Amino acid sequence: MHPTTPCGLYVHVPFCSSRCTYCAFVSESFEETKAEAYVQALIHEVNLWGAGGDSEISAAGIPFDTLYLGGGTPSLLAASQIERLLGACFQRFVWHGSPEITIEVNPGSCNRQWLKDMLSLGINRMSLGAQSFNDQELRKLGRPHDARAILRTFDDMRAVGVCNISLDLIAGFPGHSISGFEQSLQTAVFLAPEHMSMYLFELKEGSPINNLIARGQEQPPDEDLAADLYLLCCDFLARHGYVQYEISNFSREGYECRHNMKYWRDDDYLGVGAGAHGLIRDRRYWNMGDVEAYLNCLTEGALPLEHVYRMQGQDRFREAMIMGARLVKGLDLGFLGGKYHVDAHAFVSETLCDLEGLGLFEIDGDVFRLTEKGRMLSNQIFCRWV
Ligand code: SF4
Repeated sequence: MHPTTPCGLYVHVPFCSSRCTYCAFVSESFEETKAEAYVQALIHEVNLWGAGGDSEISAAGIPFDTLYLGGGTPSLLAASQIERLLGACFQRFVWHGSPEITIEVNPGSCNRQWLKDMLSLGINRMSLGAQSFNDQELRKLGRPHDARAILRTFDDMRAVGVCNISLDLIAGFPGHSISGFEQSLQTAVFLAPEHMSMYLFELKEGSPINNLIARGQEQPPDEDLAADLYLLCCDFLARHGYVQYEISNFSREGYECRHNMKYWRDDDYLGVGAGAHGLIRDRRYWNMGDVEAYLNCLTEGALPLEHVYRMQGQDRFREAMIMGARLVKGLDLGFLGGKYHVDAHAFVSETLCDLEGLGLFEIDGDVFRLTEKGRMLSNQIFCRWV
């Protein structure tokens, strides 16, 4: 049996023009020849999934209604490559309603003609990785662009008619300041994107900045400052008409990211590309993260699955709790408990009894939701549900 709620399709493009200092994603340097081989492999993978998938996971006949081209930097691909890739996705999968189709764009990585081409291919949402509007901060983050490039790409998007733009900011990295962040927030709301994501800096193993901190060449991030920046952001964006709908996401009404909502609402999704993850019914899988291994596997005609396993009821229930509690409006304990045959109220009481009364969460009938304080300290709750 297949899921009845339409699924999301995530397509990973692992190439970047340079490495950001905080990056621990699957990404490598962009090279034209390799990028072309990768696009061909992606199309091959899409075809394999469209033809039925794997003996353990079948994607045949599943309806999709969102597609997210993420990375890496998908905006480094040529329009003709994206056309072939989307063509395969549209042809091989069943599409439902009016799909949301997002592409991540790095500032300065494309021109107006490319953006126009994206619109004509059916892309209707663009996510611009600004991160900061301060050149000094951008250099510290190792971003390959300056603030002017963000403004130029944003203007180009509007000029060609992109009417659903999301803008990413990052806060709390070593050396970040309240005044620096306020400057970025002010510029961001001046541009008036429909959606904003604000990610708190996280130290990831393997990232260049982590190595610098370990060697004492960079100061560690300040957790108190990060908490202040988070609250500042929530307050600032609320005052400028952005509704917070998830721990890190804010939008004008009606512009929530439909694709990401699938992760938070416990819907299924298929991931294609090196290192991509998927969840189809009770099967979770992830692909090989090494691009060479990914290419070789598809050359041999096999899906590049690195790991597939069945998520038992309790495991998927816990994951659904963690993802659902990220939503500001909370999650429905009755619904999730019924879906996974778990007494969800008892689960919350058992796992969070010592946190009751601290103002981190509230329960209203079947609805469990984090308070603002709880969203800021969400890891203290989620670590009990892993
Ligand atoms: S753009 Fe994203 S994926 Fe690429 S290096 Fe920077 S953080 Fe990593």
